[in-house]
Amino acid sequence: MHDFVLQMRMPRVVFGAGSLKQVRHEVELIGAERALVLSTPGQKALAERVVGLLGPHAAGVFSAAAMHVPVETVNAAEDVVQSVDANCLVAIGGGSTTGLAKALALDSGVPVIAIPTTYAGSEMTTMYGLTEGGAKRTGRDAAVLPRSVIYDPELSLGLPFTVTVVSAINAIAHAAEGLYAPDGNPVIDLFAEEGIRKCAAALPRLQRDPRDLGARGDALVGAWMCGTVMGSVTVGLHHKLCHTLGGSFGLPHAELHTVVLPHALAYNAPAVPEAMRKIAAALQASSAPAGVFDLAARHGAATSLQAIGMQRADLDRAADLAMQSQYPNPRPLERAPLRELLQRAWEGARPD
Ligand code: NAD
Repeated sequence: MHDFVLQMRMPRVVFGAGSLKQVRHEVELIGAERALVLSTPGQKALAERVVGLLGPHAAGVFSAAAMHVPVETVNAAEDVVQSVDANCLVAIGGGSTTGLAKALALDSGVPVIAIPTTYAGSEMTTMYGLTEGGAKRTGRDAAVLPRSVIYDPELSLGLPFTVTVVSAINAIAHAAEGLYAPDGNPVIDLFAEEGIRKCAAALPRLQRDPRDLGARGDALVGAWMCGTVMGSVTVGLHHKLCHTLGGSFGLPHAELHTVVLPHALAYNAPAVPEAMRKIAAALQASSAPAGVFDLAARHGAATSLQAIGMQRADLDRAADLAMQSQYPNPRPLERAPLRELLQRAWEGARPD
């Protein structure tokens, strides 16, 4: 057991089927009068539903949230915040929508209420990201952490199963890296193990019936736990690699996490056997890397970088980019084994 300091920063959490209707109460609790509802274009109807629930507290809808939080979108949303005189943001959707709310909160300090409809977990972290001129700027700031999060499993009943699988494995990645983070602790370990267990166990039930409300609830609790882990620790190789590959080669976020995680775990496995044992146990598998790989494959997700659009010719550059920044990781970063990791991930080789 190593020494640790634990200071959890957690938003208020409202969980339950039908809890969307608490949104007005949550806005009132933080003392706000006028909430702007944020969504992607595809979830505009849902945002309109929130407007109806907010009644007199609704200031309008901004439904142009987009992947990777482009600065142009943030600027356009900022103009709307000003023009409708909003003093609260309600973000309903996945990590992209939460990300827009965080970018807006970063400069203005406007409080955020997040209503997640995927398992990305961004609502539980102080991390933000913004894309400007093709480059993604990321950081951590307490100002972007939502004040309140409403987890309503009914809102993910329609999440396509293909998206469900990769989103749940994205959540598992947060927890897996928490189990070997340099600033981990026994409480975070409990969240991580249970978060992985809940997300993994929900997938076969959702494969049978994507509208299984109990399984949706379990997956969402799992995602909350996994997001809490990432919000509390320093992430390592897996997240850094996904950030580099996603940013430089335009690969889709959750799919990329799903492909890379087994290989990042295999890279780190010799250095952190106890963390691997815990991950494997939570997956009910005999090995952590193979357990994640099999979970993805069994539920129909892509398991190779090739299948999600990466070119073989880019692997050398990816290895160079991955070596550019050094950060805490259980096993030191070395180019040759990293290049090998990328090769295996590109081919979709099953780790041991
Ligand atoms: P997303 O938010 O981009 O959503 C993907 C698509 O699915 C969108 O069009 C969305 O409208 C739609 N969608 C969402 N929920 C749905 C539902 N229930 N039913 C039907 N469609 C639905 O994807 P994501 O994986 O949730 O988030 C990815 C983004 O979040 C990335 O940009 C990533 O960097 C960021 N992220 C940030 C953090 C953080 O801590 N800052 C953590 C995780 C992810």
